[in-house]
Amino acid sequence: MRARTEYLVLGGLTLGLLSFFFAGQWFAIPTEPEPLPEALTDISHLEPQPLPIVFSDAQWRAEKPIEPIPDVVALIISPPERLAVPSIIETDAVPEEDIAVIELPQYTPVAHDSLDLEGLAAGTFSQLNWGAGETMYGASIPTPILVAKGETDGPTLCVTAAVHGDELNGIESVRELMYSINTRKLKGTLIGVPIVNIQGFQRHSRYLSDRRDLNRFFPGNPRGSVAGRMAHSFFHGVIKNCDKLVDLHTGSFHRTNLPQLRADLHNEAVVDLTKGFGTTTILHSSGGPGTLRRAASDVGIPSVTLEAGEPLRLQEEAVEHTVKAIFTLMDTLKMYSKRSIWGNPEPTYYSSRWIRADQGGILLSRVKLGRQVKQGTLLGTVTDPITNERVEITAPFTARVIGMAVNQFVMPGYATFHLAAETDIEDVVDEPEEHELGVDVAAANSMGIERSE
Ligand SMILES: [Zn+2]
Repeated sequence: MRARTEYLVLGGLTLGLLSFFFAGQWFAIPTEPEPLPEALTDISHLEPQPLPIVFSDAQWRAEKPIEPIPDVVALIISPPERLAVPSIIETDAVPEEDIAVIELPQYTPVAHDSLDLEGLAAGTFSQLNWGAGETMYGASIPTPILVAKGETDGPTLCVTAAVHGDELNGIESVRELMYSINTRKLKGTLIGVPIVNIQGFQRHSRYLSDRRDLNRFFPGNPRGSVAGRMAHSFFHGVIKNCDKLVDLHTGSFHRTNLPQLRADLHNEAVVDLTKGFGTTTILHSSGGPGTLRRAASDVGIPSVTLEAGEPLRLQEEAVEHTVKAIFTLMDTLKMYSKRSIWGNPEPTYYSSRWIRADQGGILLSRVKLGRQVKQGTLLGTVTDPITNERVEITAPFTARVIGMAVNQFVMPGYATFHLAAETDIEDVVDEPEEHELGVDVAAANSMGIERSE
């Protein structure tokens, strides 16, 4: 009997609570949003700001210090078109002068062929954003494009980096190059793309998110795979504006490269371009199908790859060489007068071969990058860590070491030393490129296939 009373009391209480709750829902009166404090601006009526954002030279060079933005304690981030009332966070406790209202940039992907260089004023430095053209991941990541537009007319030279997202030397080279240019002294336009493959860069990876190599998909396909679409958009939106192109790379998979140009020496316009890089080693390579350099050259934009250093590292020597080489090129092209550059020596052309390990084990090199070696010179040793058996790798011909694997554990067949011998330009021959063999990415890595470009 007593238990029953308890049930009744409990039931009554529950019913009471429920009706209170629902009555609250039914009779709640909608309230007007609170007016914004004066220091906050209602941005709901604003149109999204179109890009490009153009900065003057003076601002970029920070000739006068930029006003610091106060510490942000309140941030209005609501996209204007979505919410009528911006959300406000913790405004009570802070003095009004410490409140900054920041409108996040509205990135408008640049449609194909619409990198509006004509619209930029002469003698300015600008940051444009190239969008992937289609919203492939729900939100495309815009790629910053730096443009130095000279006071006077001249050619448009493009320098691209990090088509492979793990190749950092090129990123720093583009930064240093672009921010060393005085647009008042520049003839023509210099376009620098520090990071083409932002997806890979964010993951410290050579590849796109789908493990595809972007540098096998140019000029791209608007109806193709993710890589094909990105390549198409970048090629048509950015690259087609260039008169000449230098694509910056490094060695791949624990290999390092002496600064060197890769160029199709069967293409006259490309040969002309190679003459401007000072003392940089020039290596013939026709350029694999799908590489940016080949696709650009195919549509009449003479292009070369400039390789320097190894991936995932920032190497000052490699960066310094790259920047100097491009300044020398700009001098040759009459775009920018001499800074500290090399003269214009007769270019030296090389053909090359990778020397492979015949045994697996610990590779220790005995030569430095760039060294001239005679036939028979000891290049390195490979030692089996279990049996202590050691083999020597020697130079099969007189050559210069232009690339090499860094010390590591190697499998038999691993490409260890890249040797180049001088050649006459008429004698260069196409060697079958390894990436045409069609092995997949993981296999290529473990087999030690050299895929630097
Ligand atoms: Zn590369």
